[in-house]
Amino acid sequence: MPELPEVQTIVDDLNKRIVGRKVAGVWYDWPKTIKKPKATDLEKEIRGLKIEEIKRRGKNILIYLSKGVDKSAYLLLIHLKMTGHLLYGNWQMKNNKPVFPGKGFLSEKVNSYIHLIFYLDNGLELALSDLRKFAKVIFGPAEEIEKLGELHKIGPEPLNQSFKVGKFISLISPQRRKIKQVLMDPKVIAGIGNIYSDEILWQAKIHPLRSANSLKPEELEKIYKSIRQILEKALKLRGTSVSDFRDPLGKPGLYGKKLLAYRRGGEPCLRCGVKMKRLKMGGRSSCYCSRCQILK
Ligand SMILES: [Zn+2]
Repeated sequence: MPELPEVQTIVDDLNKRIVGRKVAGVWYDWPKTIKKPKATDLEKEIRGLKIEEIKRRGKNILIYLSKGVDKSAYLLLIHLKMTGHLLYGNWQMKNNKPVFPGKGFLSEKVNSYIHLIFYLDNGLELALSDLRKFAKVIFGPAEEIEKLGELHKIGPEPLNQSFKVGKFISLISPQRRKIKQVLMDPKVIAGIGNIYSDEILWQAKIHPLRSANSLKPEELEKIYKSIRQILEKALKLRGTSVSDFRDPLGKPGLYGKKLLAYRRGGEPCLRCGVKMKRLKMGGRSSCYCSRCQILK
């Protein structure tokens, strides 16, 4: 699942490419992706609106559209969930299926899973590809969409200047759950999932199964610093593509080559050389070093 660095990479790219464009039409073949309005009404409601700005909140992509003078009158919310990709290009319809004429990743893999296309007024398209069909799209007046649980129930953004260490400690230290679970809970902190929680805990030398409320202030401070460092580095490298993340032009991110812990079970720890371990946690696996990350 794309996490904060991957979603921010998409948002930054879209801000460079689609701002100022108008939506010219909509195509879909999997109406369940469109949660609001009714899939059959989406085209009628969004056509003619101008894309003004793209933002991120947690793992949500927020595309603001204007009508007349109101620059943020409407909001198109896209959550990519497990396997969603938001792509920018030019597809052609063959037998009522979109076909990407280019080469590489887009034509080979993602292409057959495109279920929703927004046609833009420059002849190009914004397409949602989604193998497992869990992605969701919500559109409507911005005021209404911003009030939905998808947005207002999300915890603070870890890279915001206003997110200080004191705030972090006050959110984490009352929690009885395992620290890995707490870091991955979007209601506590926004944007961190399986990849970056493994990376953060390895860097901070904290075992993923430690109870959050057992962590000392200095340990919490280390986690806080690691969150900032790891997410900023991953963002600079345009995300991790070891599963299948791609940017809007189909290119992979480069953080996957720098992974410290995620998917490194059985490989030597980059700090001490001991073989890294893997454990299962609620269906997700977590990799850690049993020498550097001790379960106290
Ligand atoms: Zn180690």
